[in-house]
Amino acid sequence: MRSPTASPRLLIRSSTIHAAGCYTLDRIPKGRRVIEYDGPRIGKELADERYADRPVTYLFSVGNKGQVIDGFGTAMFLNHSCAPNCETDEDRNGIFVRAIRTIAPGEELLYEYNLFDSDEDDADCYCGAPNCRGTMFSDEEIKRQKRRKARKRANRKKR
Ligand SMILES: [Zn+2]
Repeated sequence: MRSPTASPRLLIRSSTIHAAGCYTLDRIPKGRRVIEYDGPRIGKELADERYADRPVTYLFSVGNKGQVIDGFGTAMFLNHSCAPNCETDEDRNGIFVRAIRTIAPGEELLYEYNLFDSDEDDADCYCGAPNCRGTMFSDEEIKRQKRRKARKRANRKKR
């Protein structure tokens, strides 16, 4: 019998949502920290430079000094969902993925990416949740993009 406090065993396998996903083999109680979003911390400028031409990145903003975690390890396989079972939680030791409800063995671990500060115009979501927002951007980023687009239209009209 496994100890109830042991870390859940996780498995990376192909996901119905996107490419590969991270699944748990064990039941995870609500509130449990599942895994750390691990990786070297680098400045945002370096990250932009390093990943300028790459369509997929695993960068995670951390703190308020413009640093990002260059994701490395199991946590970078977690997919986005609009109906997540996990959230991310930052403290001075790092970024952790935490269960927001009890997760059954065999479930895919999912959290909301809330993307922002992206050069991409779209980050469409195909998570399939009944409440799918259709995008992986945060609400604030959506508002900002709408304002930016409205400004562009206004500029065009002026000419
Ligand atoms: Zn979705």
